[in-house]
Amino acid sequence: MSDKVVGILGARGGQLGRMLAASASLLNVNVVILDDGHHGPAKRIVAPTALHLSHVDGSFANPEKIRELANKVDILTIEIEHVNTATLQEVQSAFQHKELVVHPHPSTVEIIQDKYRQKVHLSSHGLPISDFVAVESSVESISDVAGKLGLPLMLKSRTLAYDGRGNFVLRELGQAQEAITFLNNRPLYAERWVPFKQEIAVMVVRAVDGQVQSYPVVETVHKDNICHLVFAPLRSRDPSLSQRARAIAETAVKSFSGAGVFGVEMFLMEDGKIFINEIAPRPHNSGHYTIEACETSQYENHLRAILSLPLGSTALKVPSAAMLNLIGYSSSMQEIQKTVDVALTIPGVSVHLYGKSECRKGRKMGHITIVADSDAQLRSRLRPLLESLPESTS
Ligand code: ATP
Ligand code: MG
Ligand code: MG
Repeated sequence: MSDKVVGILGARGGQLGRMLAASASLLNVNVVILDDGHHGPAKRIVAPTALHLSHVDGSFANPEKIRELANKVDILTIEIEHVNTATLQEVQSAFQHKELVVHPHPSTVEIIQDKYRQKVHLSSHGLPISDFVAVESSVESISDVAGKLGLPLMLKSRTLAYDGRGNFVLRELGQAQEAITFLNNRPLYAERWVPFKQEIAVMVVRAVDGQVQSYPVVETVHKDNICHLVFAPLRSRDPSLSQRARAIAETAVKSFSGAGVFGVEMFLMEDGKIFINEIAPRPHNSGHYTIEACETSQYENHLRAILSLPLGSTALKVPSAAMLNLIGYSSSMQEIQKTVDVALTIPGVSVHLYGKSECRKGRKMGHITIVADSDAQLRSRLRPLLESLPESTS
């Protein structure tokens, strides 16, 4: 398929790298993974690795380890945006006398990994986002901004955020100090509260030449700031919605450089307006459903894009699909196993377990995809799965 070796800068326990590696194995693309620990989920999937190469143990933040990975591969990509972009810039193009390409471009990752810079970028490209302002980690600055944007106010950590862990909803001014402590005195910014009707998302794949193709619009349902369910395609009475959402997502992804898939998270308002929430420069949770439900999965299209191969069709190949995240309820896998046992008895259902070494409350341990011939059939297949979840998560 391609004799290029792909290096993945991986997260500790990263499932996205694991699914990317699984996809690479079908295309016989050699993959080398950098992540923390010898037995990370991505390293444990049997992806081809050229015989003379071995995976790298270390962090995506460590320059030495990134260079070690860069030395072994032709193309570098990421499964997490919190990587050391200065080192990615350094190894891009000329590294130890060999051509090395980083996808997406390090400048893209650099902009996106700082959510404030990401908003400035989107705003400067005329994309719809809600009001946001820089804020200092002081009670005065937060009060000042709350005066401008109103309450509730969404305070967000600029960097290293995921699963809502860098967010604090300020409901009254008296919580300002609590917010600063909760957010660890990290650099912050504030967003106007968005009273959305629904959250939606679009995966977009960007080829090396800048051409983009979007996947269908999906509805994402969050619980405690973590993606819980995804429904594909989004159902709406507004005939223009899907086209508008896809056009916004495509324009946003075109504004960055480098190849690969991007996840565009959006808010849908009661009056039909759309705001972009944030963009991920990599495969995304809201695109897991594409493995079973689309003609080409987000993982395969990510590989095709970074390898300069023709992109695959992003069309749905089933009338209706859903994805249920399997989120740790405690340190035991028992609750998850219960849902998996039910899943195995339902037609049209595929189980994905990530092989993480420890289960923790709030940790993504796996997911389940459901495909069906109709929405009614989808709901009847999904119901027993939801009923099997522990009370507080269903
Ligand atoms: P992810 O795991 O998707 O990377 P994250 O930690 O980057 O999450 P965000 O996507 O910024 O966090 O926010 C998490 C959730 O909080 C959103 O999916 C949405 O439900 C809610 N949210 C975020 N921003 C706002 C806002 N300005 N107004 C209202 N709700 C918001
Ligand atoms: Mg995020
Ligand atoms: Mg998000």
